[in-house]
Amino acid sequence: MGIDDADNVLRALTDDGGFRVITLETTSTVRGAIESQQVKGGLCRTFADVLTGTILVRESMSPDLRVQAFLQSDDGRSRLVADSLPDGNTRGLVQLAKDANPTAEMPIGKGGILQVARTLHNGALHQGVIAVPDSGSISAAFMTYMQESEQTVTMISVGSHMAGGEIVAAGGYLVQLLPELREDLLAIMTERLKDFENIEPLLAQGKASAAYLLEETLYGIPFARVAERQVRFGCTCSQTRLAASLATLPRSDIESMLADGKMLDIECDFCRKKYEFSPEQLRGLLTSN
Ligand SMILES: [Zn+2]
Repeated sequence: MGIDDADNVLRALTDDGGFRVITLETTSTVRGAIESQQVKGGLCRTFADVLTGTILVRESMSPDLRVQAFLQSDDGRSRLVADSLPDGNTRGLVQLAKDANPTAEMPIGKGGILQVARTLHNGALHQGVIAVPDSGSISAAFMTYMQESEQTVTMISVGSHMAGGEIVAAGGYLVQLLPELREDLLAIMTERLKDFENIEPLLAQGKASAAYLLEETLYGIPFARVAERQVRFGCTCSQTRLAASLATLPRSDIESMLADGKMLDIECDFCRKKYEFSPEQLRGLLTSN
């Protein structure tokens, strides 16, 4: 995908030092992920929200590291995965139970779980698991994660607008309270964000750009933009990476793949790109493990 398919992420600080705000549009990113996973109907919305929320967590907690999120359905048999990488490439995976309705929103308000895993600078993983709030709201689930697992008071809203069965706009914002915060400022911000708990009406009006969301979120509050970054749909798969994961399989599995002497076709689960392995390449894996 070309640079034209990139979405913008903006970061700002209010002049009073009280708030950090991140806004982003994710229209192209989620459309790319939805297309590769062949997602249909109301599930598009949930998938889009998980992708946008995951990017927000990464941009706020560790922009130069990787964040993955797993949303598990009430019955624990279906899940959505979002994987956001430091270079902005973001991809997703939809794994539905065989008998799940592929076009319905995934039931997540009665036992659903959100798990977030983010890489730390020392290579370790910070992981948090929270119960999705009864409302089934993905925004609320990410806010709960930030509070319970990151001990950070954060307001998050993610959303999308659909028309004709497709996502036509997606995005979100995150407002984080900095330690210097004054009580009176918190009251003003809380009041202000009440109008923006749901950003869908804005998205439906075509006002999905990160710049617009920033102006709206901080309307009347002096602020400075401190960074602009980009995200896009993109996968990290390669012949080498797939070979590395094949090499971790039990020897007997590789031998059975070799049995018919044909080329082995493998498709990347995330982006559906196809790769081929020759019997010689497979035999090479056997000698290296
Ligand atoms: Zn791939």
